[in-house]
Amino acid sequence: MNIHEYQAKEILKEYGAPVTEGVVISHTNDLEKQLSVIKTSKIVIKAQIHAGGRGKAGGVKLVDRSEVVAETKKMLGKVLITNQTGPGGKKVNKVYVQEAQDIEKEFYLSCLVDRESSKIAFISSKEGGVDIEEVAVKNPEKIITTRVEYSDDINQDDIEKILTPFDLNDSQKKEGHKLVKSIYKTLTEKDASLIEINPLIITKSEKIICLDAKINFDENALFRRPEILKLRDLDEEDPKEVEASKYDLAYIKLNGSIGCMVNGAGLAMATMDIIKLYGQEPANFLDVGGGASKEKVSAAFKLILSDKNVKGILINIFGGIMRCDVLAQGVVDAAQETKLNIPLVVRLAGTNFTEGKKILNDSNLKILSASDLNDAAKKIVEAIK
Ligand code: ADP
Ligand code: MG
Repeated sequence: MNIHEYQAKEILKEYGAPVTEGVVISHTNDLEKQLSVIKTSKIVIKAQIHAGGRGKAGGVKLVDRSEVVAETKKMLGKVLITNQTGPGGKKVNKVYVQEAQDIEKEFYLSCLVDRESSKIAFISSKEGGVDIEEVAVKNPEKIITTRVEYSDDINQDDIEKILTPFDLNDSQKKEGHKLVKSIYKTLTEKDASLIEINPLIITKSEKIICLDAKINFDENALFRRPEILKLRDLDEEDPKEVEASKYDLAYIKLNGSIGCMVNGAGLAMATMDIIKLYGQEPANFLDVGGGASKEKVSAAFKLILSDKNVKGILINIFGGIMRCDVLAQGVVDAAQETKLNIPLVVRLAGTNFTEGKKILNDSNLKILSASDLNDAAKKIVEAIK
């Protein structure tokens, strides 16, 4: 789960990290009054959307005190297209107005769960404020990765190594140590999977400040982090994915035209692959899970159909814990309710296969049945032509 920059900064501040102070604006009533807490003459207005790359897209604006009301109004409600939003962009429902900082240097610092090494990795670079992916390609030697053993605390040597690229003086180093510790603690205590500070800056008066902050949380741990779950902003998520999460369905919207309903993440990936092999693109990833009820299957089916790009549906179920008859009944119910009028190919195998097949045959729905995955993919690609 993602949160906004201002929320990430609030959490980091709780853990003792130096962040910029600001005010969050979501409506224009009494705007002067809302903005009066910012006292500096130079002010930065930042769009709060769940995507980076705002700076280059006009989502970060440096203004004079006298322009701040008008510019905040302009930013609110704007649709921002950045290199991370996709072509549709994202509507700005909130802005974060903060003191402008006098920047001397911009660094990069992040901390993440590194599954490969089963450690916590810190990535630091003196090249901040820019795309770190670009630095990784062009100047990989400028990126330092420090892998830290998971424990209650992070040791001094590791912190020294993390801070090396920043070339800090003694007093900054003290602040740097505090900062790394606070980031480490935030990650481990809040079940975050990534914390990224880009840029981390040194000001002209030699202070270290987190100028931007991004935190991702492990969704599997949200059940024990109600205070984090409260920060979820449904306006920032795809409505279909929000709907899916209500039914505990693993659904990711994609841009193709063949809707997929599959059980098991591995089988779902294989199904998407084979659709591509036959020259089409999947409209979604969807894993209905193991013991799905017919209501859940039905919700999943309607979700697929609510995507206007979908021209045909491929259902690929291997009944293990999932029963083919339950699946079939869910599909038939949803298809009748939605008056299905696009091709549907079903490949069923496993538990209660015979009963499932009978339910489909007796349903009067126009369903193309397939003997195996290959056959299923061929048939759906053919059917939508
Ligand atoms: P994004 O990563 O989405 O582009 P950032 O918060 O990193 O957004 O801002 C982009 C750039 O804007 C920063 O690298 C910095 O140069 C400038 N900037 C951001 N916030 C401030 C601020 N409070 N004061 C001065 N400059 C800022
Ligand atoms: Mg940034």
